[in-house]
Amino acid sequence: MIRVTNLVKAFDGKEILKNINVTFPQGSTTVIVGPSGSGKTTLLRCLNLLETPTSGSIAFDDTIYTFTPNEPLSTAQVLNLRRKSGMVFQSFNLFPHKTVEQNIIEGPIIVKKQSKASALVQAHALLEKVGLSDRAQHYPHQLSGGQKQRVAIARALAMEPEVILFDEPTSALDPELEQEVLKVIQSLASEHSTMIIVTHNLEFARNIADFVIFIEAGHIVETGNVAQVFEQPQHKRTQEFLNLFG
Ligand code: ATP
Repeated sequence: MIRVTNLVKAFDGKEILKNINVTFPQGSTTVIVGPSGSGKTTLLRCLNLLETPTSGSIAFDDTIYTFTPNEPLSTAQVLNLRRKSGMVFQSFNLFPHKTVEQNIIEGPIIVKKQSKASALVQAHALLEKVGLSDRAQHYPHQLSGGQKQRVAIARALAMEPEVILFDEPTSALDPELEQEVLKVIQSLASEHSTMIIVTHNLEFARNIADFVIFIEAGHIVETGNVAQVFEQPQHKRTQEFLNLFG
């Protein structure tokens, strides 16, 4: 379980996330929705320290990481916290000069000190899982956007993170390519992977989420399961947002 407590993130003194308190249960999929600029991506990036929180804490089970402006985490703490999550970006972020296979085995070999042989076995199993067994020796530029994103998901899974963070995983894709990526994410959800997904695709959110967070202007306005947030939103701002985009 991941517990975020009193999390604040400021850029140049301006608070973008304001006292965020939320729990992400193990084995569940949480979708974060909200207007553009509300802080969704920033929250995701704080969870794996692509952004350093200004204050507050993030706990993975019993391990608590506390952020204070004058006392940075130790290097060991940063590495430990980063390894707990895998990130899938909107823009895929594959290494362009490496093959699909090399993209996937790099992290396990360098960071996890896995042998090349075992990293390759794992990579091929993951490629099968995302339906790309025949693309292991291709380079990213030889793949469609949907295929690149599926490789990026396999690469994140190869690190065996406790949680996978998806930042708008399909917003760079045409609708037909989007579906193939959504299917892979759906299959991970059915296996009870722990996932946190930022998306503008409310239909997808409705289909996949166990829990939904509606965030606006750096505040969590409403949280709950799909039925609570989508069917019976309690807060006026959630209702307005869903009426506009749902
Ligand atoms: P979108 O749906 O458009 O992707 P979002 O809800 O994910 O938006 P964020 O990307 O988290 O929103 O951005 C929230 C606010 O924080 C925005 O006003 C953005 O300009 C600001 N912001 C994000 N990153 C930085 C940064 N590195 N430096 C300064 N401001 C930033």
